[in-house]
Amino acid sequence: AEQRILMDETAIRRALTRIAHEIVEKNKGIDNCMLVGIRTRGIYLAERLAALIEEIEGKPVEVTDLDITAYRDDRRSNASSQARNETAAAKQECNHLNVEGRRIILFDDVLYTGRTIRAAMDAVMDRGRPEIIQLAVLVDRGHRELPIRPDYVGKNVPTSKQEQIDVSLSEVDGDDKVTIIH
Ligand code: 5GP
Ligand code: MG
Repeated sequence: AEQRILMDETAIRRALTRIAHEIVEKNKGIDNCMLVGIRTRGIYLAERLAALIEEIEGKPVEVTDLDITAYRDDRRSNASSQARNETAAAKQECNHLNVEGRRIILFDDVLYTGRTIRAAMDAVMDRGRPEIIQLAVLVDRGHRELPIRPDYVGKNVPTSKQEQIDVSLSEVDGDDKVTIIH
């Protein structure tokens, strides 16, 4: 497999800095905003973004994480009763999240078919009625299967379905880089 670097540490930092400014501009500040990172790498990206926004605005922005495993459409139909119980338990776990009337900004590393984000929106809206939900992603690789589009994009990367994007973040992978594998 061939591998090519799409973003290095500097490019990732610049993209996140730009997105931080875009979020502040689009939301006219960050009052009432909540950054919600999705699973592993989305959480670290959301935390970095929160730090950048705090630098810009001089006040903290709430950041939290979301495990949407229970909401994936691939777990719904032929799930065993044990899996359904686990699903119910997982849905309970996120109940600390108070989204009522908030401006929710979801953050994921890679956007592909859109199914993960649909599940994330389900998880959020199970907990209340947000004022708005926006979406930020580090990489949009195309191939949507649902009518979902990101509000903030680090980098648009046209891919074939066979190609894969590898996102390394220092918090979990030791260094910062985005590569395409084909
Ligand atoms: P979707 O649900 O939009 O099909 O896929 C998005 C989710 O799957 C994201 O949580 C993302 O982490 C993961 N994903 C999909 N395609 C890729 C990819 O090419 N590379 C990486 N690193 N993650 C992907
Ligand atoms: Mg993911």
